[in-house]
Amino acid sequence: TVHKSKLIAGNWKMNASLASNETLLKAVLEGLGASVCDVAVCVPGPYLAQVGGIVSGSAIALGAQDVSAHPSGAYTGEQSAAMLQEFGVRYAIVGHSERRQYHGERDEVVSAKTAMALRHGITPIVCVGETLAEREAGQTEEVVKRQLAAVIHDNGHCISEIVVAYEPVWAIGTGKTATPEQAQAVHHLLRAQLHHAAGDHAAGIRILYGGSMNAANAPQLLAQPDIDGGLIGGASLKSADFLQIIAAAN
Ligand code: PEP
Repeated sequence: TVHKSKLIAGNWKMNASLASNETLLKAVLEGLGASVCDVAVCVPGPYLAQVGGIVSGSAIALGAQDVSAHPSGAYTGEQSAAMLQEFGVRYAIVGHSERRQYHGERDEVVSAKTAMALRHGITPIVCVGETLAEREAGQTEEVVKRQLAAVIHDNGHCISEIVVAYEPVWAIGTGKTATPEQAQAVHHLLRAQLHHAAGDHAAGIRILYGGSMNAANAPQLLAQPDIDGGLIGGASLKSADFLQIIAAAN
């Protein structure tokens, strides 16, 4: 068996201010104690320097919410992996459903972003997940397999370096969580797909669950054999909730 620690990653989305970041992180750092799981916060670009300073030397790792698929140049509004690296970013979310939905990110782009992060020593948190319509049409397996296959196709040689996040779109920000059994079933599929690509290394790849995870449902979700942590949106903005989820992963 592979002994990997769980990862609890907060995704603040577009919620932050200098003052609220400081208050939130101070409370989380104070409550963290001797946590054994890995913890990260994925913050909006303008706050990377501030948050990097606050969490420096602590058990909280700095994360970004996206990374450009391009190395540099005429890509207005984008942030390169090299830039993120300069600010000490350890994780970057790629292919979040909000990027796929509102910014037209397709599997090929998600795959290129994954490659760019890996090239700069940043661990990509690759998000996959089906919409409600896809689930109801019985397409869940097909959709998540297609999304992960694109990333494996282009990054197979270093696939063991990625983190995967299964985030059913219908569960994100809706208060509707996948049941532990529903989530485990998909995680098991993803694990098998990773095993096909990476062999025994697949056991060491962390597959996070995301979608309305909170203090109440985290213990059961995190107890599933193939759920190796969580990607936490709303509940990562409240220190007490985020700390309880971390405690459930310890
Ligand atoms: C997310 O945005 O990755 C997420 C899981 O959000 P929430 O926890 O708010 O559903």
